[in-house]
Amino acid sequence: MKKIILFLFISLLFTGCADAQNKLFGGKYKKALFIGAHPDDNESGAGGTMIRLQQQGCEVVSVYFTSGEAGIKGKSYDEAAAIRREELKAACKVMGVRYRWMTQIDGNTEITPERYAEMLQLIKEEKPDVVFTQWPIDGHRDHRICSVLVFDAWRQSGYSFDLYYYEVETGHQTRNFDPDTYVDISDVADKKLEALNCHKSQNPDVIMADWHNDMELFRGKQASCNRAEAFVKQWKSE
Ligand SMILES: [Zn+2]
Repeated sequence: MKKIILFLFISLLFTGCADAQNKLFGGKYKKALFIGAHPDDNESGAGGTMIRLQQQGCEVVSVYFTSGEAGIKGKSYDEAAAIRREELKAACKVMGVRYRWMTQIDGNTEITPERYAEMLQLIKEEKPDVVFTQWPIDGHRDHRICSVLVFDAWRQSGYSFDLYYYEVETGHQTRNFDPDTYVDISDVADKKLEALNCHKSQNPDVIMADWHNDMELFRGKQASCNRAEAFVKQWKSE
């Protein structure tokens, strides 16, 4: 009997799935911001991590850099933004997280002294101890600009939070991405999918089937669990 218990204990240690029960990041984060360029980027790249952190008592805020103004064919910018704000609200309700949006415009995002100041102001208001944002050399310009502004705010704030990058549509939008951090999302994959499906205007079924389903399974293989999300941690440069 003792041998069986020992075997079960050792098996648990090596499955990696024990991670599903553990406090993420050692439980050190009390407040997390996820800052994505478009409604559905945070959910696609890190929705499972948002849900798990929230479930573990971390305060989570999903920040939308634009409102996806250019993302619905045949709709004006105002019409599309109105639709996509309702979608992101529904997604955040599913995930149990707070949301806020910034004032950049989809497809027209910009880096100016005022925009640097705006991102730093957001950080000062929210006071996160960790921020997750997009990979700074993604294919989409809005993703890159969002990431660069977050990176700058990280430096300007005196590295007041830990910074991680997430991936979206890897092989298409995200490339050269070599993760150093994995989160087991096996137990929350259904809820993540439910959140993604709130973004009806973005054909979530197609995007999931073409990209994120395979990504979650592949990252899961790397992390020895069923499904995972992967991140790159930004190290201090000075
Ligand atoms: Zn995007």
